[in-house]
Amino acid sequence: MADAFARGEHVPHGGERPEPNPQFLAHAAGLSELYVLLAAQAPTYGLRLRGFQREGDAREPFRADGRARALAPDALIDVEDEQGRQLLAFVELDGGYYGRSGNVSWFAAGACAMAPEPERAFAEACWDDLRLCGGGLRLVDCLNAARAPHDSAWARQQAEQVATEAERERLRSDPDARRALLQEKRLYARGEQLEQFGEPGATALQLLLHFSEPMSAVERDAFAALACQLTDDPLDAHLAPTPLPPSQSDSEAVGQLVAAYRARQQARVAELTRRYGEGPKLRRRRNQLAAGELISEFAWDALENDANHDQQARQEQERLRIAYLERREREERQRKHEAPLAARLVRGRAAAQALVDRDHLKHCRHCDEIVYPPEPSRDSYGLTIQPSYRQPLRCRFCGGHELDPWQERHLPQLQYGGNYRPIGGDLLSSGKDGLMDDPDGHKGGEW
Ligand SMILES: [Zn+2]
Repeated sequence: MADAFARGEHVPHGGERPEPNPQFLAHAAGLSELYVLLAAQAPTYGLRLRGFQREGDAREPFRADGRARALAPDALIDVEDEQGRQLLAFVELDGGYYGRSGNVSWFAAGACAMAPEPERAFAEACWDDLRLCGGGLRLVDCLNAARAPHDSAWARQQAEQVATEAERERLRSDPDARRALLQEKRLYARGEQLEQFGEPGATALQLLLHFSEPMSAVERDAFAALACQLTDDPLDAHLAPTPLPPSQSDSEAVGQLVAAYRARQQARVAELTRRYGEGPKLRRRRNQLAAGELISEFAWDALENDANHDQQARQEQERLRIAYLERREREERQRKHEAPLAARLVRGRAAAQALVDRDHLKHCRHCDEIVYPPEPSRDSYGLTIQPSYRQPLRCRFCGGHELDPWQERHLPQLQYGGNYRPIGGDLLSSGKDGLMDDPDGHKGGEW
């Protein structure tokens, strides 16, 4: 009977019973005694018995090194102290004692030579924890020692939670800090959430996320609108799964950001144009801005490089212009009789020059620059190789392929070079958008 009770099995009925093992009887009696003692005397030691599980019920499965294992103690005792702290212990009557934290990732353990005499084991300071720190502990000391790692882990976890919550609060109240985190975690700011603000709005918000200097008031307002499109947890750097239709004030804030950034970008392009001169790349950016677009964050970072590239393209264009003017003078003399007499009488040398220009020059529709003929090159013997007459021409300035036949209205550009542009027609000489030399509304395409 005691056998079955201690094992947590059903009591056998009738038939032949196996003779109980005397060792096991003593074991079961010891457990019963421990239970009675705990129930009756625990209050004397400031403890209250909450539960007492024998063998089968006390079995605690766990995994270690990827294998399923189990602790199979004689009993699991569950007591609480006067502060209501739960203290748990596995009991091995014939050897050890294990305390636990509620999971089995660590153990504190104690042992007592008097375990077979539960009354003494309970009352006397006869315990030693298994780190063998010298004994002289009471059961309650061992239980407390067993609980200590759990308590410190719990305290650490609480402290971490408090710190995490404080960090969330800081990020909610400090847009610069939140943006820095979004940058660090590389928020992917593309999608419907931003597109709701229109194309320049989305670009402005991407620029806002890209910049790092402290935000202005306009930027802070727009960032608040952006934050509504992010997940609720400020520690998480993702857009919300579903776009939230922007409020009136959100849309206005983003609209103001677009205006502020456009002014800033126009000023920057103008400044670079002053320093480097205008070439195809800066011109494209200026046209984009004039058309109501914004320069993307990548193009913004590349602006100065582009300006530098433009400057080199301009210098090359100037070199080609001078070389062409020399070539033109030579050919003009050879071909002066080709021009009709009337034209020669009226225009003098210009009549033959017009023939040479017509045969050699084109005009790029893309960048409004003159396309000069390929130059003769020299082979390895130093002989001049004339370029093939049928060689397809490309604009040497912007790389464009759409070339128009030469027109004499471009003559001043040929004669004076540089950034010379006639004033009037589709061109503006000044104004806040600067030169407007791309009248067919070109924007966007790669130069
Ligand atoms: Zn061109």
